[in-house]
Amino acid sequence: DRIKHHAPVLVIGLGRFGAATAGKLDRLGREVLAVDDNEALVQKWAERVTHAVQADAKSIDALRQIGAQDFTVAVCAVGSSVEASVLIVANLVDLKIPQIWAKAISQSHGKILERIGANHVIYPEAEAGERVAHLVSGRMLDFIEFDDDFALVKMYPPKPIRGLNLTDSGVRTTHKVTVVGVKSPGRPFTYATAETVVTDEDLIIVAGTEGDIERFAALGS
Ligand code: ADP
Repeated sequence: DRIKHHAPVLVIGLGRFGAATAGKLDRLGREVLAVDDNEALVQKWAERVTHAVQADAKSIDALRQIGAQDFTVAVCAVGSSVEASVLIVANLVDLKIPQIWAKAISQSHGKILERIGANHVIYPEAEAGERVAHLVSGRMLDFIEFDDDFALVKMYPPKPIRGLNLTDSGVRTTHKVTVVGVKSPGRPFTYATAETVVTDEDLIIVAGTEGDIERFAALGS
C-alpha cells in the first residue's frame, strides 16, 4: 500500500486539467512522467515536473518506448478529443496499468471509458458546475458530495442553532445533520462535541445527506 501511494504517476495530456494534476503531484513530492504530443507544452513543463516527454499516446508503441508499462498509476487528462481519449485509455488498459484515471467531458464519454477499463472516471466540469450550484444557492462556502448522496459542507451556522449547544439546538434530532467541526475567527478548526456552542462568527463543517443539508442551510441567517 505504501509503495502504491508513492509510485510514480504517468500523466497524459498537459492541458489545463493535466497540467494542474501533474503540477500538484510534483508539489506533493511524487515522481511524474508527463506526456503531451505538443512539443511546446512539453518544453514549458520540462522544468516543473520530474520528467516531461513528447509522444503521441494514441500509439501503444510510443507509450512502450517511454516505459508506460512500468507505471502502476496513470491519468489520461486528454478530454476535448474523445477519440484520442478512448484510444489512449485503451492503450493504458492493454499495457496492464493497474490504476487508470481518466477525464471525461460527458456522461457517454465516461461510460465508454469505464467499459474500456478505466478504474476512475472524473467529470471535472460537471462536478465543478454542480458545486457552484450548491454554493450560489445558499450559505455554503464549500461542498463535497460523496457517491451515496452524503455530503460534507463548510458554512456559517443558520440562525436557529446559534447561541445554543449542539444538543439543545437539535442539529441531529430536528435537522438530521451532524456538526463535525467548528472554527472561531482566527482559530483553527476543532472537533465539535455535544457541548459546543456556535456563534454567528463561527464557521462549521456539517455532514449529512444532500437534502438534509440543503434544508438546514435554508434555515437562514
Ligand atoms: P483541458 O481542457 O484540461 O485543457 P484538453 O483535452 O484540451 O484538456 O487538453 C488535451 C491536452 O492533451 C493537450 O495539451 C494536447 O496537446 C494533449 N494531447 C491530445 N492528444 C494527445 C495525444 N494523442 N498524445 C499526447 N497528448 C495529447
